[in-house]
Amino acid sequence: MQVPAENVVGAVGGGLKIALQTLTYGRIGIAASGVGMAQATFDHSVERLKPRQAFGKAIAQFQHWQFKLAERATEIENARNLYMKAALRMDAGEAFPEPEAAMAKWYATNLAAEFARDGVQIFGGYGFMSELAADGSHYRVEEIYRDCKIAEIYEGTNEIQKLVIARSIFGKDITG
Ligand SMILES: Cc1cc2nc3c(=O)[nH]c(=O)nc-3n(C[C@H](O)[C@H](O)[C@H](O)COP(=O)(O)OP(=O)(O)OC[C@H]3O[C@@H](n4cnc5c(N)ncnc54)[C@H](O)[C@@H]3O)c2cc1C
Repeated sequence: MQVPAENVVGAVGGGLKIALQTLTYGRIGIAASGVGMAQATFDHSVERLKPRQAFGKAIAQFQHWQFKLAERATEIENARNLYMKAALRMDAGEAFPEPEAAMAKWYATNLAAEFARDGVQIFGGYGFMSELAADGSHYRVEEIYRDCKIAEIYEGTNEIQKLVIARSIFGKDITG
């Protein structure tokens, strides 16, 4: 089937570049979703750690969780800044805002997945439950733990993001 000239997207012969550019842009969106999942885990965790008591005090009073949440708050801030930087470069019209897009994608989605694991742990046995009552209610960390994994896989797996970053360090002649 022939495509009419007015329906051709971009320059003839330049299709691969356009397809790859779309992937780069998509990575920024997936990075944002990683930040969203990490932030949601953070918010739910804080809500739980303050009122829940163990050994006669709030779990938030144990330094282990104070330090853990302090680390995650810093990491979320880093992840947000990274994807915003890539998005600003995209909005400025840069065709390939790399390596920030790749950095943002792997860092934010890796953070979401690592933190989701902690999130379930923070909720203890309830964190693991996908149904707490007949109405199907449950704590959201269980959902995030399940859903976060795909973000490490699609729009280029996180191993491929590292390859993109490595290419910007060593050059294509070395990395391939
Ligand atoms: C829900 C969902 C939605 C999707 N949506 C889309 C979509 O809209 N558009 C689209 O085009 N695709 C989509 N995909 C496909 C997705 O991009 C691929 O699943 C992904 O790129 C991984 O490819 P693969 O599944 O073939 O895994 P494989 O290529 O078999 O890779 C398996 C593992 O090997 C690793 N690996 C491969 N090569 C290397 C290497 N050189 N060095 C180190 N590790 C390596 C990978 O990182 C991965 O961890 C979707 C997938 C899912 C599950």
